[in-house]
Amino acid sequence: MSASTRIPPIAQPFVSERAKKTLDLVEEFVEKDCIPADAVFSAELGEGEKRWQTTPVVMEQLKEKAKKLGLWNMFLPKNHFTQGAGFTNLEYGLMAELLGKSKIASEATNNAAPDTGNMEVLAKYGNDAQKQQWLAPLLEGKIRSAFLMTEPDVASSDATNIELDIRREGNEYVLNGSKWWSSGAGDPRCQIYLVMGKTDPNNSDTYKQQSVVLVPAGTKGVTVQRMLHVYGYDDAPHGHGHIVFNNVRVPLSAMVLGEGRGFEIIQGRLGPGRIHHAMRTIGAAEKALEWMIARVNDEKKQTFGKPLSAHGVILEWIAKSRIEVDAARLIVLNAAIKIDQGNAKSALKEIAQAKVLVPQTVLTIIDRAVQAYGAAGVCQDTPLAYLWAGIRTLRIADGPDEVHLQQLGRRENRARKDAVIAKLKWQREESDRLLAAAGIKPKSHL
Ligand SMILES: Cc1cc2nc3c(=O)[nH]c(=O)nc-3n(C[C@H](O)[C@H](O)[C@H](O)COP(=O)(O)OP(=O)(O)OC[C@H]3O[C@@H](n4cnc5c(N)ncnc54)[C@H](O)[C@@H]3O)c2cc1C
Repeated sequence: MSASTRIPPIAQPFVSERAKKTLDLVEEFVEKDCIPADAVFSAELGEGEKRWQTTPVVMEQLKEKAKKLGLWNMFLPKNHFTQGAGFTNLEYGLMAELLGKSKIASEATNNAAPDTGNMEVLAKYGNDAQKQQWLAPLLEGKIRSAFLMTEPDVASSDATNIELDIRREGNEYVLNGSKWWSSGAGDPRCQIYLVMGKTDPNNSDTYKQQSVVLVPAGTKGVTVQRMLHVYGYDDAPHGHGHIVFNNVRVPLSAMVLGEGRGFEIIQGRLGPGRIHHAMRTIGAAEKALEWMIARVNDEKKQTFGKPLSAHGVILEWIAKSRIEVDAARLIVLNAAIKIDQGNAKSALKEIAQAKVLVPQTVLTIIDRAVQAYGAAGVCQDTPLAYLWAGIRTLRIADGPDEVHLQQLGRRENRARKDAVIAKLKWQREESDRLLAAAGIKPKSHL
């Protein structure tokens, strides 16, 4: 069954014929070109310092092929941007699931974070000069980029805490402070940082203190101090940098959108990106399930005289995983449809639901697959350990679960409490009235 025939019925009416054809092409490209090349990419990166200086040849080959197939920049939704491949968030979401099955497929099709979010920022908020200088080469996949918000010295899940100082001096901005978890900063092709800091730390409106400026990597005063590991993985050549800014000077033209508009930018940036992550994560779950099925049917590796699949509990793992991944997919596709029907702001609830539910669900599925492999599941011989580590970070990155849950809970409570209390009160009173009419004494103490 091809990918286009597996689209959940609930989403089918919203998917064009062109998107269905592209979806099948994406599947073939991922399964036949990218997944076999994952190991080549890792091997070409090599060992030690070389890992931060190398662009594996296989990546450029895949990019050429993807461009020829028309599998390029599918992430930019057609109702908001003209520069993309012309798909909706839903259509790209279905494609992103398939891309999530390979380490390298997203980059090979120019749909990789953080470039996707950064391109959206530049396309949406950048001026013509900024678009020409940075957006054009990003869209062509010639350079890469990083988004620098999180800081080592403050709790960054509350972005009002961000401290990096952006001071105006004459016709320049001067930046001082440090950032960490700057994903993508390790790549030798990373040429531009989008840096969030404070231009007006004393503004009484705490959401107007921040701004985003464009800082070319390698500007004097920028030091990439170290690269951080994720559960021991370096994620080279992309990586996650700890970067120090010491009197870094950029021209006033480096400001995106305007001083004090930083919050607006980060809010605009994160909505669709969360859907992309969530759908790639669904792809990772499908991959884990495939690996689990392969292991539990391995005739050579039987326990107590039968393959693992003949043990009831294992079939239950497969069944539960199928239920969970299918349910999680619907949550994400629903959020994508809601964005398509309005915008990311009108789909805040649905995006938060997907952002929280999907990584938690998929971690459980991957964990079952790891368990099915025994010790092999925790080492480098399957993709499972790496998948688990990457997806575990999604419960923290782009805002931790607790923050999304708090906002979701607050909104749900505020929106429903008055109507719910009034309705239940009316129903109780109506019950009492009916009971009294029937000559029965009410028993509830509420
Ligand atoms: C792999 C990876 C890649 C990343 N890439 C980037 C990137 O490219 N650019 C970038 O700027 N940042 C990036 N980040 C950073 C990420 O966005 C932050 O880690 C995240 O926003 C949380 O901020 P923090 O680490 O400062 O945690 P803190 O703000 O210190 O929070 C710590 C913990 O406190 C708890 N908490 C917070 N608020 C509440 C609350 N309201 N109620 C209850 N508990 C709460 C949560 O459990 C949270 O995990 C990345 C992180 C990872 C792991």
